[in-house]
Amino acid sequence: MTEPHVEAARDRSERASRHLAFAARGATALAQSNWMSIVTGGFYMLGGLLGDLVTYFMPGESGSKPLIYAIATTAFFVGVWLVVAGRRLRPVDHQYLIGAATVLVTIAVTAAPNNIGAMAIASMYVLASSDAAFFFPARRAMFFVAFSMVNEVLALALRDDLPWWSGLLGAGMATGVGIVTAVLARLASNADIDALTGLLNRRGLDQLLEVEIAKASRSGTRLALVLFDIDDFKHVNDEQGHRAGDAVLVEVADVWGKIIAGEGVLARYGGDEFALLLADTTEDRAITLAETLRRAAPIRSSAGATSWQAGESGSLLVSRADVALYRAKLSGRNRTMLESSDLPAIAKELRDTLAMTKVHYQPIVRLDQPDNPIFGIEALIRWRSKLKPDLNPQQVIEIAEANDLVFDLDITVLGIACRDAVMLQDRSGAQGLTLHVNMSGLTLNKPMFLMEVRRVLAETGWPAQQLVLEVTETVLDGDKRYAMAKLEQMREEGIRVAIDDFGTGYSSLSRLQSLPVDELKLDRTFVSAISSHGTALLEAVATLGRALNLAMIAEGVEDAEQAALLASLGYPLAQGYYFARPMPIEQLLERLTTTNAQYRRVL
Ligand code: C2E
Ligand code: MG
Ligand code: MG
Repeated sequence: MTEPHVEAARDRSERASRHLAFAARGATALAQSNWMSIVTGGFYMLGGLLGDLVTYFMPGESGSKPLIYAIATTAFFVGVWLVVAGRRLRPVDHQYLIGAATVLVTIAVTAAPNNIGAMAIASMYVLASSDAAFFFPARRAMFFVAFSMVNEVLALALRDDLPWWSGLLGAGMATGVGIVTAVLARLASNADIDALTGLLNRRGLDQLLEVEIAKASRSGTRLALVLFDIDDFKHVNDEQGHRAGDAVLVEVADVWGKIIAGEGVLARYGGDEFALLLADTTEDRAITLAETLRRAAPIRSSAGATSWQAGESGSLLVSRADVALYRAKLSGRNRTMLESSDLPAIAKELRDTLAMTKVHYQPIVRLDQPDNPIFGIEALIRWRSKLKPDLNPQQVIEIAEANDLVFDLDITVLGIACRDAVMLQDRSGAQGLTLHVNMSGLTLNKPMFLMEVRRVLAETGWPAQQLVLEVTETVLDGDKRYAMAKLEQMREEGIRVAIDDFGTGYSSLSRLQSLPVDELKLDRTFVSAISSHGTALLEAVATLGRALNLAMIAEGVEDAEQAALLASLGYPLAQGYYFARPMPIEQLLERLTTTNAQYRRVL
């Protein structure tokens, strides 16, 4: 059996999301349950009160007066209930209330004991038609305006003692007021609608956010917000023109709108930015939905998600989602990042036990010398989680990146690696080893980055000239002047920069020439593709590396054939399971002291 509070939460969530969906489907900006119940309830109360009053003064003693009293009094109390508790209704339920009001007026008109009373009661049709016109999407609004017009004309025409045209004037007025109300309400809310996609625009979303925050504060529910940014949208605009850009945005809006299907409200938040507001939704659900949307889109995008905590303002929520989006873009795009107000358990575990992490080292060997002596080592994190023991290092990095822990992680690994490398060099007698350490793009962008690297080098005594920091291509993608400036500064201090997993990103050849880098680490997919695709690409990249005077390291060498082939193509350096797997420092020390290796730098 389901727990009652779970039922209640599910119920609340369904109501909230249906309401949001209605607002996003062309209803006017004020089509919120609270406003609708106040206005519809107010009209019901007004209609009921006037109905009772008119009936009291109405001449004639026909037997139908009690019926009109009953209708008017019931309408009044329905109105009171709507004002007090109507916000629990779905916006779409108001159509039944408006339909019912129209029918009740028709019954009262037909039952009125005399013509003056009938005409007086008929003047109330305008309440129903303007209520519908004000809130409902255009088509539905026009249906109700027409419905009350037909009712008014027929109800009066069917009375024996009135000519058929007697209801025309009142019906015409109700229609006129309805149409004008509909147009004005739409013009007013168009300021909140994006003309291209028909979604709410930033202003509309900001307003809705305030309403939803007020509601969530009252009901104690959660809200989640996801901001999306289309990756490389500028390229579409530049290369295919603005029409193509617009078409992409419209398609994204259509595809996403269908998937969301009432679960939240999608808005166009800026040029190529979309926002998704989810009522009563957890961060996990928001991320799952964001990932589903990203996968379904016709173009790649990045997303940043966050959730609202009691007491927070709308702008704080937006800025936190923005931070998450910024991190998603910075760490390579085409992904969803979370900026949680509450750290997930796994992130807490990582934060608390990071200082105890292990680091393994994989040798990078020379291919251009017999017996492949070790040229350098790459430090690779080996953090073990108690909560999720199966996480691989890549997943650990992703958790760290998603939770603003990767700077600490990278600096911790750097510290351990420099200390280990000093010990290794001292004890093995191997001089001139290079130490490769991976750095996330997010780490590079932290203002403290350079200071921390200098501090670690100073504290451990590892020479800057023997340190190589590995960054991925995406860090240098596009206009990342800040990251580039950092790399330049590092190089001025003697630290070298390698592009890791080269070939998996989008570096154009012309850009490669101007990047502040010293080495290329060719992604292992190139090496593993030798058997199926031959060596043409490997040859071309080797030539490129030589032309640009970059040291080339082939990653993922798994057998002797690959090693021999890479050597024959002129690759000076390689790394892979064939030579050695990542290992603890003690094991590496043993290996270094037992082999009679030569250490010399390539550059
Ligand atoms: P990476 O920097 O490209 O490191 C090489 C990865 O390839 C390592 O995986 C290594 O174990 C694996 N590898 C090496 N030789 C072979 C081979 O012959 N065949 C195959 N199939 N794989 C091979 P690992 O240790 O799981 O690390 C994965 C990635 O996690 C690294 O890729 C790096 O991007 C990231 N990473 C690891 N440690 C750190 C760190 O301290 N900081 C940051 N920011 N990233 C890290
Ligand atoms: Mg690496
Ligand atoms: Mg790599």
